[in-house]
Amino acid sequence: MGRVALFAGLTDAECLRLRQFAELFLHEKNLDLVGGVRLDEEQRLLLAALACLPILSLGMDAYDHWETLIVYPGKFTPGRSEVDEAGVVHPSQSRVGEAWPNGPVIVSWRDVERDLAGDWDYPMNVVIHEMCHQLDGRHGGFDGMPVLPSGLDPRDWIREFTAAFTALRQAVKHRHESFIDPYAGESPAEFFAVACESFFVAPECLAEGYPGVYALLTLYFRQDPLARLGRGSSKS
Ligand SMILES: [Zn+2]
Repeated sequence: MGRVALFAGLTDAECLRLRQFAELFLHEKNLDLVGGVRLDEEQRLLLAALACLPILSLGMDAYDHWETLIVYPGKFTPGRSEVDEAGVVHPSQSRVGEAWPNGPVIVSWRDVERDLAGDWDYPMNVVIHEMCHQLDGRHGGFDGMPVLPSGLDPRDWIREFTAAFTALRQAVKHRHESFIDPYAGESPAEFFAVACESFFVAPECLAEGYPGVYALLTLYFRQDPLARLGRGSSKS
């Protein structure tokens, strides 16, 4: 866990809490390794720690509505077709992760490792992405707005996220450089998950491109990765 850049800047108390959460996660959730995946103790702990980073200040209860994490060796293809709004059936495409409102969560181990190596064009972390879908889906559906703490006004959330989502779609449409993965333009739910990925992995990108969204996510997660990663890099 100590070598992972994503955890740089965590205080000793936060590191201890993350480790305790990770151990609890492995105890409480079903870790279903399929397709020949083998993970040693350290890899399991790392996977669980990544899953728990978003809930470090929210608490384990934030994941109490689902219980199974499935790990595939690489990209996987869901065994179902998808029907679009016009009723056209599309064969399912291979993917690196998937989340269902009440579980399971599915990730590709190869992509977990690739993300940690920083092998991406845009800030990515499939585990954080899917876990944030789970937080979004805690109220029963994915719409890009998780259950907010009492101090956060849903109107502020809707205003900032809608403006950022619209701006990103415009940037993609006009082939402008995007601050975060253009896949965020797929839907408000994907925008939320991708914004959260950037929030933890490369917060400077999100803070520069969508400062209002960054500020809201610091209030929602009760974490400030930009300040934390700055501390972490100046320490080493
Ligand atoms: Zn997604």
